[in-house]
Amino acid sequence: MTIILLYIHRKILQLTYWFKYKLFPFHYCQLCGLPTRHMLCQYCMAYINSFECPSFNNLQNPNIIYEQYFCYAYNFLLREIVRRYKYKKQINLKWLLGYLGARHLKLMTFDVDFIIPVPSHKNKIRQRGFDHVSLLLDYHRATNNNIPVRTDILVKSKESNAQVGLNRQDRQDNLHNTFMVKKDVSDKNILIFDDVYTTGSTMNEIVTLLKKCGASNVYILCLCRTYSS
Ligand SMILES: [Zn+2]
Repeated sequence: MTIILLYIHRKILQLTYWFKYKLFPFHYCQLCGLPTRHMLCQYCMAYINSFECPSFNNLQNPNIIYEQYFCYAYNFLLREIVRRYKYKKQINLKWLLGYLGARHLKLMTFDVDFIIPVPSHKNKIRQRGFDHVSLLLDYHRATNNNIPVRTDILVKSKESNAQVGLNRQDRQDNLHNTFMVKKDVSDKNILIFDDVYTTGSTMNEIVTLLKKCGASNVYILCLCRTYSS
């Protein structure tokens, strides 16, 4: 049943994307407003590319089995876009941020069975009004038929306190046993997707849990990486 709902959801997103960006291909740069046929004009794209995280070069190495990849440094520009998206509820920015993530997803050379967005607790989703990480994969859902996005496998079953201001150990303790795996992940290759990477505590907790549940390989892709902590 869940699979059918996920399929219908993807089809709706494909139609939305088609109407929004394909039916009238000439539109405006999502950042500066210059006319362009793409999500971003060439100048903004070049500007954002200049913040591409150097660690992403790892993707060129086909021998990597378990790695974490970061698309961009969390600089002032991306920080502002993410802030508007997450806290000012400019949900339409999911297409732009999702596009930036999907560009890197395409470069991945290894096979994954599915992508799991880092889940938020249901109370947090209710409070915010949307599941901000899952929605960032809407661009991928609408444009890529090969790798499914699964939101029914990993859930955040316990609410954790805010991570801001905590040190690495406290963050790890705060997240302990807050996630739950609800489906069989034995021998699966899984990509975990998140918006902003700080200390990696969330990822450590999730990867450890999925490995314990029998996952074969777990890869990590984060849209932004902060270098402040
Ligand atoms: Zn622009």
